[in-house]
Amino acid sequence: MAGLINAAPVDKPEDYRNIFVYLENRDGQLQRPALEMIGVGKRLAQKVNEKLYCVLIGSKISEMADEAASYGCDMVLGADSPDLADFRTMPYAKIVEDFVKKEKPNIFLIPATRNGRDLASRIAVSCQAGVTADCTEIDIEEDTRILSANRPTYGESMLAEILCKRHRPQMATARAGIFPVPEKVDGSKCEKRIEKVKVDKSLLKKEIIEFRKKEAIDLTAAKVVVSGGMGLGSPAGFKLVGELAEQMNGVVGASRPTADLGWITRDHQVGQTGQTVRPRLYVACGISGKIQHIMGMKNSENIISINIDPNAEIFRYSDYVIVDDVNKVLPALIDEIKKYKKEHLKKAKVASR
Ligand SMILES: Cc1cc2nc3c(=O)[nH]c(=O)nc-3n(C[C@H](O)[C@H](O)[C@H](O)COP(=O)(O)OP(=O)(O)OC[C@H]3O[C@@H](n4cnc5c(N)ncnc54)[C@H](O)[C@@H]3O)c2cc1C
Repeated sequence: MAGLINAAPVDKPEDYRNIFVYLENRDGQLQRPALEMIGVGKRLAQKVNEKLYCVLIGSKISEMADEAASYGCDMVLGADSPDLADFRTMPYAKIVEDFVKKEKPNIFLIPATRNGRDLASRIAVSCQAGVTADCTEIDIEEDTRILSANRPTYGESMLAEILCKRHRPQMATARAGIFPVPEKVDGSKCEKRIEKVKVDKSLLKKEIIEFRKKEAIDLTAAKVVVSGGMGLGSPAGFKLVGELAEQMNGVVGASRPTADLGWITRDHQVGQTGQTVRPRLYVACGISGKIQHIMGMKNSENIISINIDPNAEIFRYSDYVIVDDVNKVLPALIDEIKKYKKEHLKKAKVASR
């Protein structure tokens, strides 16, 4: 009978091997989510004794390929053309699709960035695979080589494990900022297969006239994040938050309602629908600790919370807590840091005489 619905793939899952990761890059630089993907890919590949392939697309990509190798992958598959200098959905998707169809990876991981999401859905359709989007935990079953792709659901209150048993590759996008960047290693054994490609003009129909860069705050790379919440009481509270952040060479984060109310711009928002951070120090000022906020900062090395409520939820996730009015605590902390710096500087000057 003609017209089979949900036809089984022609190839069997056993025909697919190795782990692919997509390396997001911009202006000739690998982006942090690309390095995070190498870390995850490496872990999975080691577990099932397979190889890690990095897919790199762009213009003049050899230095980026070297950098990828230095984080410990087995192969860089590259496509290089001046037409690929900036992310373009159609040609990028076609190149990745060709790589996938030729190499038949068992698993393909892509960062859940704007471009990554765009790419993942197209590749999944053209390769008749599914995608588990926005994963926060990724693992593999050693004996079956089935990807265990976990993503938060029901407003981050539950973690759903999604398995793709029949179709290959098993695809997932991974939330940026959640996974650590791997240590550098000797990358000399990594093979690089970089092709100069000619991009089909029919895939370049959209012309990029100009890129206007928005001055967005990147919280993901910050070592110190001082975040303000509704407990600040008014937009003016962010002046104190900013001052404390400045004293500690940090950046300002925020909870979502403060951004909703326009107390601060959206690019400062931390959490499920904002940025995911993992600084050495996170200071939460007047933030209650709802799960959607916690998801974005729980991997911080040290968390200090200031809240007037002794039973505040955020205290459960904190290393140090201060139970008091944030508008009293912040000026006191700023003063103490200034005093400490002054003393320290004075002593350093005396010592250097
Ligand atoms: C789908 C979805 C996605 C979401 N995404 C995000 C997200 O990405 N990021 C995010 O932050 N939220 C997100 N939220 C919203 C989230 O559920 C919470 O509403 C939000 O995090 C609460 O922000 P808050 O802690 O600043 O405010 P509140 O929950 O109102 O907490 C204010 C806190 O300040 C304390 N306080 C009050 N006065 C003082 C004072 N003078 N001194 C010290 N403490 C004081 C209070 O005790 C309280 O704990 C999302 C919600 C949904 C449904």
